Amino acid sequence: MTRDARARAGGVVRGTMDADAALAMEAVAYCGARGIVLEDRDRPGGFVHAPVSCGPTVFPREAFALAAEASTAFAELYDAVSRDDAFLRDALRGAIKNDSFTASLWGVYERSGGQDGRVKAEVGVLRSDYMLDAPSGLPLQVEVNTVSTSFMGLATKVSEMHRYLALLSAKDGEEVDLSGIPENNALASAGDVLAAGWRAMGKRGKIMMVVQAGERNVFDQRHVSQYIFEKHGVHTVRATLAEVNAEGELRDGALTFRGDEISLVYFRAGYTPADYPTDGEWAARLMIERSNALKSPSVAMHLAGSKKIQQKLAEPGVLEKFMPDRAELMRKVFAGLYSLDGDEGAEAVKLALANPAAYVLKPQREGGGNNLYSDALRARLEKGGDLGEFILMQRILPPAHETLTVRAGEVLKIETLSELGIYGSYLRVGNEIVINKHGGHLLRTKAASSDEGGVAAGYAVLDSPLLV
Ligand code: ADP
Ligand code: MG
Repeated sequence: MTRDARARAGGVVRGTMDADAALAMEAVAYCGARGIVLEDRDRPGGFVHAPVSCGPTVFPREAFALAAEASTAFAELYDAVSRDDAFLRDALRGAIKNDSFTASLWGVYERSGGQDGRVKAEVGVLRSDYMLDAPSGLPLQVEVNTVSTSFMGLATKVSEMHRYLALLSAKDGEEVDLSGIPENNALASAGDVLAAGWRAMGKRGKIMMVVQAGERNVFDQRHVSQYIFEKHGVHTVRATLAEVNAEGELRDGALTFRGDEISLVYFRAGYTPADYPTDGEWAARLMIERSNALKSPSVAMHLAGSKKIQQKLAEPGVLEKFMPDRAELMRKVFAGLYSLDGDEGAEAVKLALANPAAYVLKPQREGGGNNLYSDALRARLEKGGDLGEFILMQRILPPAHETLTVRAGEVLKIETLSELGIYGSYLRVGNEIVINKHGGHLLRTKAASSDEGGVAAGYAVLDSPLLV
């Protein structure tokens, strides 16, 4: 393809125009045309296509089906955990003592009245993340995200892009079987369940999306709010926690922001200490929590998604107490999880020091880039002291693939590992679970040499599974 032809197609791919580069250019053009984009920090008003793979990555159909089947059970589990004050209090005791962020979230929970202070409903866009464990062939759960799950907008469109590129690449007259690239309803599922939450609150006012000031992944969020407006006619206002602090107020328990009543608050921020640079942001979080708006998630549900809770649930009999009927299915996807408290903790430290490459050390944090591996894990464990803010996890070892990726116009073929996210849409009103369904999927694919996997953080690309 000539330089002119490339320019006409809107491609920005650098380098030679072989078949891979031509495919990557089609991917980039698709991203631009369909809004698979991130904000470009370097140019105000600028976009850059999201990092993507130029085709789907193989993932076993059975493992995908198991993860999808378990998703509704995990949504029900985490909501039940969020409603169990004694369990939360006991499980998080060490984390509250050793980790100031968990302590602050717990403070919001207590100061908003604990369980009694909660709105009698919960709406969730959850995402349970898995890596395929090569030795067992099972999808093992990395974590369940109960707050600020993202990429439902972009992931939906990446699945569509991979189907499109498969058709586009077919030779004349060739039949293309698209059954391996499952349709992905993540965007609609998230938008529909949030709108259902808004309706459950009496169809009042607007939805507030709480966002980070410096967010790059803005268009993924915009896809959600645009979908909710186009499909359901509900307006979404965007606000940072600092703006809520400055311009929000409670009137008889009702949250108002810039004069609008807010009946549902959807958090796409607030999950990391960086989102609370001053006490003002904490005051905003508390104001929201104390209001009679429905929260997605409530601070109780946010806390239920802590890594410490995940580890507690893996202890014998604990999951079974919450989910007697579905525990057997759910246990299939549990990786090894170890407490670092007390005597048991000393045993776990020994285990990990004997083979640091087989474990991951995880603090009570969200958002990527916080875990310790190999040498850093060894160093932290050898340092000793109170390890109550960490859990220890079996390192999942997924199979490697070769993937054609494009990031900011740069085409790279790299050896990769993938992580599958299964979204769940969940709505409980009172004691009745009104909606609980598998809500689409996300595949994130990262360089095999990288430990962590964030897309916006620059570690990974958006991908989709090719079921085989
Ligand atoms: P966060 O809340 O920061 O997203 P995660 O538990 O998802 O924390 O860990 C971040 C990343 O680290 C994951 O996306 C995955 O790439 C890697 N990771 C986490 N746990 C494991 C594990 N047990 N085995 C292998 N990789 C892991
Ligand atoms: Mg994660």
